[in-house]
Amino acid sequence: MSLLSKFAAVAEVRRGLGEVDPTKVVIDRLESPTLGIINGAATVLAGTNNYLGLTFDGDGVAAGRRALQEAGTGTTGSRMANGTYAGHIALEAEIAEFYGYPHAVVFSTGYAANLGALAALLGPQDAVLLDQDAHASLYDGCRLCQAQVYVFRHNDPASLDARLSRLGERAANALVVVEGLYSVLGDQAPLAEIAEVAARHGALLLVDEAHSLGVVGAKGRGVVEATGILDQVDFVVGTFSKSLGTMGGFCTSRHEELALFTYTSRPYMFTASPSPATVECTRSALRALRSRPQLKERLWRNAEQLHRGLSQLGLQAGEAPSPVMAVRLADKAEALKAWRALLNEGVYVNLMLPPAAPGGGSLLRMSVSAAHKPREIERIVVAMSKVMAKTL
Ligand code: PMP
Repeated sequence: MSLLSKFAAVAEVRRGLGEVDPTKVVIDRLESPTLGIINGAATVLAGTNNYLGLTFDGDGVAAGRRALQEAGTGTTGSRMANGTYAGHIALEAEIAEFYGYPHAVVFSTGYAANLGALAALLGPQDAVLLDQDAHASLYDGCRLCQAQVYVFRHNDPASLDARLSRLGERAANALVVVEGLYSVLGDQAPLAEIAEVAARHGALLLVDEAHSLGVVGAKGRGVVEATGILDQVDFVVGTFSKSLGTMGGFCTSRHEELALFTYTSRPYMFTASPSPATVECTRSALRALRSRPQLKERLWRNAEQLHRGLSQLGLQAGEAPSPVMAVRLADKAEALKAWRALLNEGVYVNLMLPPAAPGGGSLLRMSVSAAHKPREIERIVVAMSKVMAKTL
């Protein structure tokens, strides 16, 4: 036995995935935000999270180029030890202003933002109430801060209420953690009810809006905005890697204490800060998100077209149209077969196998972009109809 012997089991799982490993798909070339060349074939990308289609935006690319030329390729260190660039400060001010809060802190990834916010807020003596379907980064953040974790049923305020009641006085030291729009099934949290339950017990509320920034809410400020609880939620975290098409993450809050997170948050302190090009591309994308509401409108039109198409095929892809939709398959083998067949039909979707998918099932996840052309959405539907006819 050695530390390496456990990899025999990993290799076995890997063999079970067959010749085409879905975790190792290579996009050789990108033709556009929604079309890539995979195995030599033009393939519609239906699993990118590129909700606003901004990855090739002319203003963003130009801003990144300028930053590369003026400030170099990287920051080569953390802000704490190696200094902050003016761009970091500007981006934080712009995010805070966007939400109407006094502060925002930028992290190097969305993953780090979740770890960083939870690590700053919680210690081993504190309790965290986590929605069952929360993203891995939120679970990992709970591990990092060693808080006592209580998982409540997905999108179930009554289950949250019961868990908080059982905590008694400790509830007043607790943090409730949910997502706005959930990353795999695309369903939205009942935030008004969740915020009410959290406040009644004196707990704070953190919402991860990774998939709802730029996607939900009149101004694109996520489910917190759409629900009208911007003044009640305590912390909003998000990522730049989806609707903004870059990399990095943030935490913003109405609480002044957020400005002190940078002194206590290891995922902020001990990693290199975002590069100048990343920061300037993100600032440009945030400007696009704010000034071009037609992007969000196009995204939802595309989501409606895909939802309608899938529903007409008799597929259950969520009750309401959402930029994230998923179709459940009977088991892992069926899901793998369908995923591969879709790729052969020129459509790339995300394959989710246990334990990654909510409820432990196997599913095909799709995400829609404002950049999808109606005929590309139609291609997804046609490919689904061919593949599912053989699978189901
Ligand atoms: N939160 C959620 C809900 C996510 O889905 C993701 C990424 N899939 C993250 C956080 C992490 O973001 P990033 O990939 O930008 O690190």
